[in-house]
Amino acid sequence: MSQTQTLTPGPLRPIGLIGGMSYHSTVDYYMAINDQVAAARGGFSSAPILLSSVDFAVIRAFQEAGDWAGAGRELAGHAVRLERAGAQAVMICTNLMHKVAPAVQAAVKAPLLHMLDAVAGAARDRGVDRLGIMGARWTMTEPFYADGLRQRGVEPVRADDADVALTDQIIFQELTLGRVTNSSRQALLGVVDRLVRAGARGVVLGCTELPLILKPGDAEVPLLDSTAAHAALAARFVLGGGPNPAPPPPARSRE
Ligand code: GLU
Repeated sequence: MSQTQTLTPGPLRPIGLIGGMSYHSTVDYYMAINDQVAAARGGFSSAPILLSSVDFAVIRAFQEAGDWAGAGRELAGHAVRLERAGAQAVMICTNLMHKVAPAVQAAVKAPLLHMLDAVAGAARDRGVDRLGIMGARWTMTEPFYADGLRQRGVEPVRADDADVALTDQIIFQELTLGRVTNSSRQALLGVVDRLVRAGARGVVLGCTELPLILKPGDAEVPLLDSTAAHAALAARFVLGGGPNPAPPPPARSRE
């Protein structure tokens, strides 16, 4: 056997990503999941990934209309297609669209690997019990995110209305369009500071584009990268961990 070959403990499990929200962050999921699977298995291993990438303009129109039922149906359709194509778990590659996670999970048998499991797990790993939330305005203000954290043992800290508006504006007028500027970076660091003054012991970059402009070491408290945490959950699933672990492969006949 050559040195680059590695004995594999079992087949990798295909994962389905609902991406494109925005595509600037989906590419980071693809890289991170592959990097972790390659590191764990060695050799030429990489992750079996199915990607259903949306037209973000369609999703944005649902958001702006407040049509969350419509958005849920749209993303559920992507989940169904991924499952039919062989995905054994599905993921919504954004924080905000977990607002419609129940509709997406209801449409498929495959488990939905939930962003809040990833984020709350990362907070607990870092010893962060009070977590400031930065993200789209619905993520920063609505119960699906704050209560989701609370249910997982992490106390959310909410930004004030001006900081909610500022963060949302930078996400939708710049980051999701691929624009990263130093002035917005400074403005976002101000939001982090104010969350810390409000009692946060860490802050979640709870928008998958925020890690494009802020890095974990940029503040005096941990900045949790939601994209990295969610991708790590995906890699664990692909490698055989997580919900519904793969049954052991059937014994091979020697004939
Ligand atoms: N990527 C962002 C998030 O993680 C927002 C984009 C969206 O889903 O509308 O929340």
